[in-house]
Amino acid sequence: MAQYGIHHVTAISGEARRNHDFYTRILGMRLVKKTVNFDDPGTYHFYYGDETGQPGSILTFFPWAGAPQGRQGVGELQETVFRIPQASVGYWTHRLMANGVQADAQVERFGEAVIGFRDPDGMRIALVALPGIENEPGWSNGDVPAEHAIRGIHGVTLLLEKGEATGAILSDVFGFTEAAKEGTTTRFHAPGTKIGGVVDLRVVGGFLPARQGVGSVHHLAFRAEDDAAQEEMVRKLAANHGLQTTEQRDRNYFRSVYFREPGRVLFEIATDIPGFAVDEPASELGNALKLPDFLEPHRAEIERVLPALA
Ligand code: ZN
Repeated sequence: MAQYGIHHVTAISGEARRNHDFYTRILGMRLVKKTVNFDDPGTYHFYYGDETGQPGSILTFFPWAGAPQGRQGVGELQETVFRIPQASVGYWTHRLMANGVQADAQVERFGEAVIGFRDPDGMRIALVALPGIENEPGWSNGDVPAEHAIRGIHGVTLLLEKGEATGAILSDVFGFTEAAKEGTTTRFHAPGTKIGGVVDLRVVGGFLPARQGVGSVHHLAFRAEDDAAQEEMVRKLAANHGLQTTEQRDRNYFRSVYFREPGRVLFEIATDIPGFAVDEPASELGNALKLPDFLEPHRAEIERVLPALA
């Protein structure tokens, strides 16, 4: 069976060091790749994930210190939700509080316990406590014990003016099925996908459109096993939904096409291959600044303009 689900979420942060500290130390995620924005090489591109950076575990950032703050609204990804073991709720509640992160009261969504909070730039993050995942491997660099570690992305919520056309693409192109409804939110689920298998469409009328900036999500990437699977998705988007994607772009760790879905969220289709161990050993992921071949001649200049992280 083809492997479907979320590949990664990419967002805009403020100051690089603060973003790096929050996701690696407070949330205990692994920096699986330290590179630059290929289209803007004076800016970092951080990839946070699990031990190997498997698809569905990845949240990435472009830190643009000094950029204007984003404004939440329709036509954007509102919240990214990470999986934690059910027995780790107490640990995380205490950890967030001890680090000055103000968490919302725990709520129940689709029968699951969810704790929401904001990262230092105001981006909405949540943890969902799931039964039966405590034996999935957790990565630890010593900040968060492996037993309590985040086990990848659970899902995302898109805030939309209308949901039908977006839902049709999730079902027809990305292998999701409509699973449940709660209030104005429809849950789509990729059957058989453990991490990154949930997309919630929250439909609200009369909201202002989102304005992208610091604390906003830039795009949401879905998985394609390989180039052939991606090509088939591109074909379906054109044939069944009248949507054209960009040309394929080589992102070194995956190959991508992009399109604006009908609800105005920027979607990407990223291949599972080749993955993050393509340019450094799995044990060393994230330690060195990695550059694509075309930027390697400019390394000294790039390293000079990138802010220090420690
Ligand atoms: Zn992306």
